Amino acid sequence: MQDKQLFAHLLGVETPWQVERVELRLGEGEVHVYITHPRATRWRCPQCARRCRLYDHQPERRWRHLDIFQYVTIVHAEPPRCQCPEHGVLAVSLPWAEKTSRFTALFERWVIGWLGVASQSAVAEQMRISWDETHAIMERAVARGLARRSVETLPTIGIDEKAFRKGHNYLTLVYDHQGSRVLHVAEERKEASLAGFWAMLSPDQKEGIEAISMDMWEPFINSVRANVPDADSKIVFDKYHIASHLGNAVDLVRRQE
Ligand SMILES: [Zn+2]
Repeated sequence: MQDKQLFAHLLGVETPWQVERVELRLGEGEVHVYITHPRATRWRCPQCARRCRLYDHQPERRWRHLDIFQYVTIVHAEPPRCQCPEHGVLAVSLPWAEKTSRFTALFERWVIGWLGVASQSAVAEQMRISWDETHAIMERAVARGLARRSVETLPTIGIDEKAFRKGHNYLTLVYDHQGSRVLHVAEERKEASLAGFWAMLSPDQKEGIEAISMDMWEPFINSVRANVPDADSKIVFDKYHIASHLGNAVDLVRRQE
């Protein structure tokens, strides 16, 4: 296979990376693409972005990429480590994949696109990956979403409980009223059910909450009081609960009298 440039274009390989060789394994239905870089490449330190010299390479890794025609395409490379005068020896970041993934970012994006319209098992079968791999791709996408969210403000949120399976099993849900989306789901409806949500927020984000709608449910109230500055002025109960408490109080007075 001579046309390394064609493959470089197909794969989106950019300098300093280049396609070294391509191996067609027709019997296995696979294309293996080996990518490398010029010896003299200077690498950006992942901490300070300073250009540093190459220290060594980690053992070869492989990433599943988007199929080329009907062939499963695997990218091979030895991830370089650079030596920063300040931060020492560090693995450089690779433009085509996240640190821990065995798939390229483009492949993951493709899978995420399909997960929007099909079940995890259907996507796994069509993409020829396992259910666990599909799930891990989804989890990484969620983690990226959470990382992006960490800089956002959440002025109005809602805490709610949902009963399921007809019995007394509950889920605790936290909503972002402005973005109309679910921020947090946890089992049961205890004070602890909200712990994971607060852990996700920075002090500034907690401070930035202006209103929290919720039921008059004591564990939720306690949790908000313990985590949100000036909580009592921010809690908003819904009319239904207030009306029902008022009705009960009036009823109690009436019976006493
Ligand atoms: Zn550095």
